[in-house]
Amino acid sequence: MAVQTLSTPTQSPNHPHDKSQKSVERRFSPSRGILRSVFRARQSLRILCYHGVIADELAGASWVPGYFVTQSQFREQMQIVRSFAQVVRLADQFGIESKRHVATPQIAVTFDDVPACTFAYARPVLNELGIPASFYVSTGLVTSRRMPAAEIVQLLRTFPRMQKDASSPALDEICKQPNSHKTLGIETLQRILSRVDGQVLTRAPQEAVHALKPLSWLQLRTLIDEGHEVGGHTVDHAILSRQTRATRTSQVSKCFDDIRQRLNIEPVGFAYPNGGPGDFDDADASAIAQAGFKYAVSTEAGFCTKSSPSFALPRVCVGMGHTRMRFMLEISGLLDKRRRRQQGWI
Ligand SMILES: [Zn+2]
Repeated sequence: MAVQTLSTPTQSPNHPHDKSQKSVERRFSPSRGILRSVFRARQSLRILCYHGVIADELAGASWVPGYFVTQSQFREQMQIVRSFAQVVRLADQFGIESKRHVATPQIAVTFDDVPACTFAYARPVLNELGIPASFYVSTGLVTSRRMPAAEIVQLLRTFPRMQKDASSPALDEICKQPNSHKTLGIETLQRILSRVDGQVLTRAPQEAVHALKPLSWLQLRTLIDEGHEVGGHTVDHAILSRQTRATRTSQVSKCFDDIRQRLNIEPVGFAYPNGGPGDFDDADASAIAQAGFKYAVSTEAGFCTKSSPSFALPRVCVGMGHTRMRFMLEISGLLDKRRRRQQGWI
């Protein structure tokens, strides 16, 4: 799942909670009007990246990742988005060559992984405010309804007693080092986690299981019928650079085929799992284009301009630590350089 594990600055290049950001907020408290003007002066497209939107009452729950937001937070952020710029659907910007890079201030809203809580708590807000969004899914997980590896690891770390009966050195290692699962090939990772994911489903708090499990194909169909975009995020949430080249290609092409066959659409967009520096390369971009996708998004903070590569479009990630002011600063682009440095892009 999660593109960035945002629990510490070193694990999470795009961490929205770190203390240094608080000092940025203290130093910069410009008005909403000023920040909107700063954003609009760029005359370009800003893409927001969300992961999960949860019920307000779950905000303090130990299992809720820091890269999620509450429904109230999300509603306020979407209202700000609407007041800052025209909201666009990325499939409309990149699906047709002639419409690409319209030179007005625009914002697009995207979701990676798409856990069930997002369907329950983001979708009503989007539909109420008339905001079309893009949802990137790992098709194998949609079919199996298995949680992404990062969510299973997060639950095992939060509730360590769950791994007691299925403990193994490899599993212990994964649980000890929060990001070590991201360094493994997808088959190895699935083999290690297969010993415990059944236990996680039955022994974790059921509110967590219900919130974190992937959407169904039927729910994705509903999103399409409501005017949203559904795009790809590989088959198994495979971080491409950790796989063999053959696996990289098949994770992308099978993802495209799954969406086409299950939803009867030609998917347009693709989001790189993790999406950070070193997580994908030009050959992956070519394979994504070859499969039939028309654009791909990373998690490099920045604005989309005419010079942005269509298969590595920048996005800015939003999480629980985004106060109203920090969110507006984030949209305005004033934090981008700092973000890129934290992420390791520069
Ligand atoms: Zn993801």
